[in-house]
Parts: sequence; C-alpha cells; structure tokens
Amino acid sequence: MDKNMRICIIGGGPAGLSAGMYLEKKGYENYTILEKNDRVGGKCWSPHYNGRRYEMGAIMGVPSYYAVKDVEDFCGITHDGPKLNRNYKDKTGKVIEPFEPKKNILKIPRLLKMKKQLKVFGELLETKYKGYDINGHRGVAEGRYDGFAVTPGREPVQGENPNLKDLCLPFAEFCRKNGVELVQDIWIGPYTSFGYGYFDEIPAAYVLKYLDFQTTMNFVKVNLWTWKEGTQYIWEQLNAHLKHPARLGSAISAVERRDGKVYVTVNGQVEEYDKIIVTAPLYVPNKESRSDGLVGMVDYFDAREDEKALFSKIDYERYDVLAVETKPEDHPEISYYVFDNMVKERLGHLMVYYRRWKDTVDQVITTYSLRKHKDMAEVPYDKCRQMVLDDLKTMRNPASNVINEWSVYYFPHVFSADYADGWYDKVEAMQGKYDTFYAGEIMSFGDMDETAEYSRELVERFF
Ligand SMILES: Cc1cc2nc3c(=O)[nH]c(=O)nc-3n(C[C@H](O)[C@H](O)[C@H](O)COP(=O)(O)OP(=O)(O)OC[C@H]3O[C@@H](n4cnc5c(N)ncnc54)[C@H](O)[C@@H]3O)c2cc1C
Repeated sequence: MDKNMRICIIGGGPAGLSAGMYLEKKGYENYTILEKNDRVGGKCWSPHYNGRRYEMGAIMGVPSYYAVKDVEDFCGITHDGPKLNRNYKDKTGKVIEPFEPKKNILKIPRLLKMKKQLKVFGELLETKYKGYDINGHRGVAEGRYDGFAVTPGREPVQGENPNLKDLCLPFAEFCRKNGVELVQDIWIGPYTSFGYGYFDEIPAAYVLKYLDFQTTMNFVKVNLWTWKEGTQYIWEQLNAHLKHPARLGSAISAVERRDGKVYVTVNGQVEEYDKIIVTAPLYVPNKESRSDGLVGMVDYFDAREDEKALFSKIDYERYDVLAVETKPEDHPEISYYVFDNMVKERLGHLMVYYRRWKDTVDQVITTYSLRKHKDMAEVPYDKCRQMVLDDLKTMRNPASNVINEWSVYYFPHVFSADYADGWYDKVEAMQGKYDTFYAGEIMSFGDMDETAEYSRELVERFF
C-alpha cells in the first residue's frame, strides 16, 4: 500500500488512537483521527475529584495486555496505580467468603467439585479447544483459528480445530457440554459484573477470548494493573505522543465512498481521504435505542446493503455507572462484589462497587449494574438507579450524594445463531471492500487491550 495514502480514523478511543500509533510505526503518517467529544479515551473516562482521578469507565488491566504495553512503551509510562483488592457480600449486605471452605462447611462438596472442574477445564482449553484464545474471531464458526498468539511476540498462528465451533454456544451451555458447570462460579465475577452480559445468552467465544484461563487466574489472584491518573491517562498520553493527535469536537454528518475515495463531512466541511477506519459503533439503532441517543455508522455513512444486513445483527449491553459520595462513617473499607446480584433474576441490581484508593476516606465510590438481557424487558434507567442506591443502603454503605453518572452503550456483540452463521468471517471478508475497515470493540471484545490489539492486527494485515 502507498505509505502516503490519506487515512481517516473515526473515534479517539483505545481502538482509534492505537490504530494511529500502529500506522505511524509502520510508516503511514498521513492519518487523521476524528473524535466527536472534547476529550480522548472513549470509555476510558477518569474525571478529577479532590485532586485525584476516579474511574467512570475502564479500571484495570492484566499482565497480558500486550497492546496496552505497546502504548505504555510508546509514551514512556507505566501502570502505576493503586493495588486493587476486594471482598464479597451477599444480597443482604452480609460479608461472605464464598471460596473459603472453612467459612462454608455446607458448601465443601461443591467447592471441591469446582476445584476439580477447574483443573479439567484448564486442560480442555489447552487440548480440545486449542486455539481458543487467539485475539479476534476469524474462523471460529468454521472450526479454525487464525490470528496472533496472545504472547508478547504475538506470533501469527493458524490451524484447524473443529471443536472450536462449540465456542458459538452460550457459555452456560458450553460448560454443561463439557461437564464443568461450576467453573462459572469463578468466571462470573470478572465477566458479568464487568458488564459483559449473562452466561445463558453470551457465546462462549467472547467469555473465553477475554477471560482465557491465564487471565482469569490473574483476576483470582488480583494480579492486576491500574493507572494512578486513571485509564484515560493512557490514551491522553498516546494522543500527546502521536504525530497527529485526534481532532476533538469533530461532528461527522456524512461519509460517502465513491470512485476509490472517501468523502467525510466534518463540521460542515468535506474532506477527502483514500481509506477510512471506523472504530465508532457499527450497531444499527432501532426506534427505541435511537430515542435513547444511540447513533450507528449507518446514520451518517452511505451504508451498503451488506453493511446494513450484518450490522443489524449487533446487540449491546446497557451498563450503568454511578459515582457517589458517602459520609465518612458509611464509607466501604474495600471494593465489594455481590454475586447474588449477577444473575438475570436480579437484573438492574448492584453487582459490584469499587473503592479505588486504600489510604483516604474522602474519595468517590463507583457502582456498576446491568439492565439488559436478551430475553427480558430492559430495566428503565431511573428504576435501576434507584435500585442501586437502595442496594447501597442494604450493603450499609449508603450514598450521600451522586456526583456523576452515565449509562454506557457497552460490549457490542452478536448472539450464538449469528456467531455460528459466520458473522465474523462475513465482516472480515468485507474489510477494505468499500475502502473501509471496521475496528473497535465488536471486532474483538469490549476491553482496552483487545480493541487496541485488533487495531494492531488490522494494520498488520491490511496496511
Ligand atoms: C464502566 C466501564 C468499565 C470498564 N472496565 C474496563 C476494564 O477494567 N478494563 C478494560 O480493559 N476495559 C474496560 N472497559 C471497556 C473499555 O473501556 C472499552 O472496551 C474500550 O474503551 C473500547 O475502545 P474503543 O476505542 O473500541 O471504543 P470507545 O472507548 O467507545 O471509543 C470510541 C470513541 O469514538 C468516538 N465516536 C463515536 N462515534 C463517533 C463519531 N460519529 N464521530 C467521531 N467520534 C465518534 C467516541 O466519542 C469515543 O471516544 C470498561 C468500560 C466501561 C464503560
């Protein structure tokens, strides 16, 4: 490809900024990043409070965040944040230790069985499901793996493994099929409470590509990365180190692709490019979600029939975050997970609340809840908000004040039938077709590293 080509990147979140970084590293310096907001970072949003930053979006990473490490190295920064720790409560607010046999005498047989199943599961993933953890979803529905290893060197790997088709199944069914139902007790903490949906609805591929065995063990051992200035800082730093920082406040009203050129109308002015990379939502809004403020690429692109047909299969989660203050005497001494509330029967309830700093009481506590499930009516925003505030009272950590809140368009994904029908391979076959490349969360998984890693691969494969 011509290294001078003009490349437009839509979105200044992890996917868009890292696309810029990897293009630049490969010698493509004629890129422009258009960000509609007045800040970069997207779902990595770390506002200030009392001279410190708290997290409204992404919080943590793990040692296998190799793309995030690339960004850190590029900028000369590191993960220097507070060490995370957590405890557990049941839905009545009682502190529990769910994995401690001595504290759960009646549950000892179940805990022992879970331990055994965990061992079996680890072995199955290494053998029967070899190739399961490759970043991205190419070939999975056809029983292949095709991508880059999750290693610092990210060696290209390809192979046939018909068993991988099982990854199309909802995770609960996948576990049942393999006789390891109880491992869900471990996976649910860093999965459902982190807003990625419920195991009866979400294909195992998403669960296991994000929470591969090693990553899950890092969560269990709390071997995690955080950033003192928040996750937004990573992307602010990257933006500051790029040759062409994102153009903030870019309102795109139209994208037209004709005669091998891409015409983008930004703040009323038409700009000409050769290629475009979209990291903004590909999701096609319906009447309700549009009235909820969601905008998809079909709303401003000259979207083609194949784009509309495929992207209309995308669904998403509604993940709500409140930032609250508490009176000093009501302040939680640590973060708490509430497993009882991570089931669809408790949709809209508080699943986890997070205390970032150990050393001072005057800090913001953030709460997390989901209010969407494929088979259920969405819990309205205000109702969910009230449920969470009531739950905080039940937990004996009542909020005195809500200082920030947002409801996030979160974790775009497709369900099992479309996954098994080869949705990912169809979209991958469209990469570049209309001088357009698709990146961002839906193409891999909704976390900082997998989106950045997908951008790396996109640049590696097509530029
Ligand atoms: C509450 C919460 C907790 C999370 N916790 C973690 C965590 O602990 N660890 C982790 O790794 N990840 C976490 N994540 C997920 C992570 O933040 C996202 O997966 C990641 O930010 C996705 O990057 P992205 O660039 O694909 O999308 P986004 O971050 O959504 O960025 C997209 C960007 O595109 C811009 N944009 C959209 N439409 C347009 C348009 N039409 N024109 C111009 N610009 C546009 C947006 O303003 C945004 O800046 C969390 C997210 C949330 C919300």
